[in-house]
Amino acid sequence: MSLSGVPLSALAVAQSALLLDMDGTLLDIAPTPDQVRVAPGLIDALRRLRDVMGGALAVVTGRPIEQVDGLFAGVPYAVAGEHGGAIRHAPGAEVVRASLPSAPVEWVMQAARLADAHPGVLLEQKQRGFVLHYRAVPDLGPMLRDAALALIAPLSHQFQLMEALMAWEIRPRGADKGSAVEALMAQAPFAGRQPIYIGDDVTDEDGMRAARALGGAGLRVDEFFVDPPGVRSWLARAAADPTAWPPLPRQPSAAATVLPPR
Ligand SMILES: [Mg+2]
Repeated sequence: MSLSGVPLSALAVAQSALLLDMDGTLLDIAPTPDQVRVAPGLIDALRRLRDVMGGALAVVTGRPIEQVDGLFAGVPYAVAGEHGGAIRHAPGAEVVRASLPSAPVEWVMQAARLADAHPGVLLEQKQRGFVLHYRAVPDLGPMLRDAALALIAPLSHQFQLMEALMAWEIRPRGADKGSAVEALMAQAPFAGRQPIYIGDDVTDEDGMRAARALGGAGLRVDEFFVDPPGVRSWLARAAADPTAWPPLPRQPSAAATVLPPR
């Protein structure tokens, strides 16, 4: 077994489950989160793969579930949002929420003041935390990290700062994309299948590890697909001929697949 998990050539599509991150994996990164676009053909490819896999296709994201619904129109059978803090196991099913604390209002207000004081910094509020985006002002990244760390310091046993792409996210400890993968894989139609997790971000490492531990594969976008268009064309090829998973666009050297320590 390679460090990415079992080789995909060993996995039959019909016996697999796909667990897919959204931003930077299925979708190109946009200047702001609400500017993302679903590329033509992606919905059709996902729908076909979902049907081949008996429904076992999920989106696993840091975003709220409603935003996934808005973009993907109910095509993923299951959705894990908020980094595993909210999971809907089937279409129309009740959302299961982990019992986690919400970031104090004072923190959100301080973050809003920070964003106001620095044009280009964007505050994105989430159910239990928030994100400070600095894509438009990359030089401010270290300052925002320090400010966010200072904010959570008194409650660092309950909250953590996560590095995302050109953004810092404050969210509660206790749920992550790994626990989301485990929860999804414990139920039909995912249970008993071999999970393939694809993600682009630091937060996806938990999902990749969980998928590998369950006998599947965890694949990082930049290592195996280059970029989101690479992921989409691979999914489209698999949907067109689901007899076997197509070869991955990129086969990195063994050294490149070594994962950073936890
Ligand atoms: Mg992502």
